[in-house]
Amino acid sequence: MHKSALSEVDPQIAEAIYNETQRLASGLELIASENYVSEAVLEAMGSVFTNKYAEGYPGRRYYGGCEFVDVVERLAQDRAKQLFHCDHVNVQPHSGAQANMSVYLAALKPGDTILGMDLSHGGHLTHGHPLNFSGKYFNVVPYGVDKETERIDYKELERLAHEHRPKMIICGASAYPRTIDFERIAAIARAVDALVLADIAHIAGLVAAGLHPSPIPHADFVTSTTHKTLRGPRSGIAMCTEKHSKELDRAVFPGVQGGPLVHIIAAKAVCFHEALQPGFKAYQAQVVKNASILAETLRNAGFRLVSGGTDNHLILVDVSSKGLTGKIAEKALEKAGITVNKNTIPFDKNPPLISSGIRIGTPALTTRGMREEEMQKIGTWIAEVLSAVDDTGLQERIRLEVERLCHNFPLYQSRLQRYDKASSI
Ligand code: PLP
Repeated sequence: MHKSALSEVDPQIAEAIYNETQRLASGLELIASENYVSEAVLEAMGSVFTNKYAEGYPGRRYYGGCEFVDVVERLAQDRAKQLFHCDHVNVQPHSGAQANMSVYLAALKPGDTILGMDLSHGGHLTHGHPLNFSGKYFNVVPYGVDKETERIDYKELERLAHEHRPKMIICGASAYPRTIDFERIAAIARAVDALVLADIAHIAGLVAAGLHPSPIPHADFVTSTTHKTLRGPRSGIAMCTEKHSKELDRAVFPGVQGGPLVHIIAAKAVCFHEALQPGFKAYQAQVVKNASILAETLRNAGFRLVSGGTDNHLILVDVSSKGLTGKIAEKALEKAGITVNKNTIPFDKNPPLISSGIRIGTPALTTRGMREEEMQKIGTWIAEVLSAVDDTGLQERIRLEVERLCHNFPLYQSRLQRYDKASSI
């Protein structure tokens, strides 16, 4: 059996990678922010571009030998522009957090007031959480969802905008199952002379496919991760109108980052290329359909869903409606081979590490080819496991069923077959 360079040099890391590949292949990945990249994306990430320093931008580098880096970065820029129809894009942010930090650096000064969605209502740490740089350097006014509808309270957002006159309104979310009205938020911002940052990290794939309204025509800045619904490498991008392009580029480099991760930019370019293919729209449509079927199955099993359901790729289940905490539910499901994450729900009475909800998303399983029938089956298994969280026999039975199902939807098979664990690692 062929031994890889990695298994020769570092068998411990090789074994961990093998085990992770096996874990991905044999379990149900329902974490809403995760996905499985293609072999082409993985190949670009593992390329020799990791060797290269390329501070600066195409045609204006601080290092020699960047002619092929420029090819890669320009392709990534052109494809991102084609995908999102934006004026300007910076493809260098290492992550979603750094994309957001770059926008803040480009547009704000320390002490400025920003309006951001509360983490516990579905927002992200970088939208003003006290422990994050955004909460430390800016005067944050949080907004959230309406207690009854559990949808963004646009009227309250408007009231807060008029009361506090923020420099910027940040919209977009990590755990919000409904369509976001970017146009309405932008109109609120315009009325008080505030800038708009739309963070589409979670819904970027849906936006690219035209299945969620795009913020591009309305926002000054749009940031995203590339590894969630967009199905690219773990990274970020920042887009803006032409007016802000110089400030944004200066903020990413040299403001927030040093050398770009060129191998990751290459992988982002591949991801954008894949997202421009006709099959990507069908994939995103299935992601949304799968989420709605899973939501319906869980609702029929008696679970309360935050906001009553979903318009996008994720569902927030209030497990306290069954006397559970998110922590207990996450652990029980993990034992049955089903990976979700505990999540606070709006107005949660539990702290984040306990929480009253679980967040479930369909991007990864849809990539595997699972559809309505599988979603019904999985929803039923989730309900069964959560009806008896201490029943280890039940968890084991479902784990075996999960493995059988996964066997029919193979993942990274060639990677698992390439090395025989016993003889090569
Ligand atoms: N913004 C939103 C809305 C997110 O959901 C996330 C990640 O979960 C981020 C930003 C941060 O992305 P990263 O983890 O790549 O820094």
